[in-house]
Parts: sequence; structure tokens; C-alpha cells
Amino acid sequence: MRFELMLPHQIRTAIAESWPVILPLGVLEYHGEHLGVGMDTLAVVKCLDILEAEMNMIILPPFYYGASSYAVAPPEGTGSLHVGAPALMGFAQDMFKGLLRIGFRKIHFFIHHQSENFTAGMPTDLAFKLAARQAIFEFVEKTDGEGWWGNAKMADYYAQQSKGDDPFNWIKAHPLMTPDIITQFPFDHAGKGETSLMMALCPEALDMSKHDQENWYTKDAIEASAKLGEKGRDLILAQMRKVLAGGMEMKSH
Ligand SMILES: [Zn+2]
Repeated sequence: MRFELMLPHQIRTAIAESWPVILPLGVLEYHGEHLGVGMDTLAVVKCLDILEAEMNMIILPPFYYGASSYAVAPPEGTGSLHVGAPALMGFAQDMFKGLLRIGFRKIHFFIHHQSENFTAGMPTDLAFKLAARQAIFEFVEKTDGEGWWGNAKMADYYAQQSKGDDPFNWIKAHPLMTPDIITQFPFDHAGKGETSLMMALCPEALDMSKHDQENWYTKDAIEASAKLGEKGRDLILAQMRKVLAGGMEMKSH
């Protein structure tokens, strides 16, 4: 369900039944002349649209205003829109704290932008990861008081970690494409991989008649196909199902 459409009694049911709560996270960034600037975020949104029909989940309004950077192109006339990590952190920390206060404990965010080396991280995901950690510390210190971790009732903390039951698992970060998926599907910027994905997921954000060969990273977009995009989409959906059903998510970290 979309969070903004939910009634309070539905939110209480979702909390009681531990539904996953998902933030599609991304940026607005120049993706060559042939792709919409929201590509990275749209890929997450469109995959979640498909999964929403399959399982109980809450989809938060997507956040498009990440740190696109101007590494690909300056913003003038291209559409790249960059909000720096320090500004994102304050926003994200308050948002996560608010979601914890509502009662959600299975919060996830998925991001596709600059996520090819997710362990090291990039400004948008690092800002949201750090904000998530800080929100959890702040929330637990407020509810359980300082010394909560040293309390005797936490004596099984390390044992519980393997079950993923401790507070630091309340908010989890995921790349849309895991290293395993990247071995089977091209990870690129506005090239064959992303263009194929948009053909399969969001053809309204694509116009191949505008494609040009000027940028090195868009050259192989002419090889894109909806069929390849469907392969990528299905790999992504399979991984998302695993993550959101719980249990197997450690494989992607
Ligand atoms: Zn992209």
C-alpha cells in the first residue's frame, strides 16, 4: 500500500503484522538525451509497483532529491539536480526517527544511483545509512534510556544479531542491483543496461529517437532491448522478494 493513502487503522495493522516499509531513494540526474532524469529512482519505484501486488508492504513516497553530483554533466540545461549529503542527513535522520515513532521496525531503502560498490558507499546512500544509525541510537536512548545496551536484558545481543532482531536491523539499506545481479546484467549509466531497464519498466521515460553517440557512456544504449530489460527486472524482483521476505538478505551485504 502507498503510505500516503493509508488510514490509521491500516497503519496499525501493518505495524502489528510487521509489514516491510520501503523508501524508494534516488536522484534526478542527466542520463543522456534519450532517458528521463529520474531513471535511477524510477527503476526502484517501478519494481516496487510490481511487488506491491504480490505482498503486504508499505511504499513511502519516493525521495528523488539525493546527491546526484555533477560528475556526469553540469546542471545547466541537462536536468541534473544535486542536493549535498550534509543536507540529506538532517532530513533523513528526522524522517527515520519519525518512522520509528510511528511504530515501524522493518524499514528498508533501495537505491540504484552510484550503487555499484555499495559496501564502500557514495554520498546519498552513506548519508541515509548514517542518518539511520543515528536515528536508531537517538530513538532507543529516548525510549530505553542511556545504558540500554549495557543492561542485563541485552545479554543475548550477540546471539540475537544472527537472527537480525537487534535495533540496528530496524532500518536496512540495499542497492537495487546486488554484486550477484551485476555479474548477470550490465550495470552502467544510461547505457545498454539502464536503457533496457527503462524499456521494460518505464517506456514513457525513454525516447530512442533522441539518442546520440556523443557521450561515451550512452554509446552502447543502441544495443538495449526490452527483452534484456525484462531479464534485469526479473533478477531485481527476485532479490527484492528475498530481502523483503526476510531471512536471505545477508547474502546481498
Ligand atoms: Zn542511472
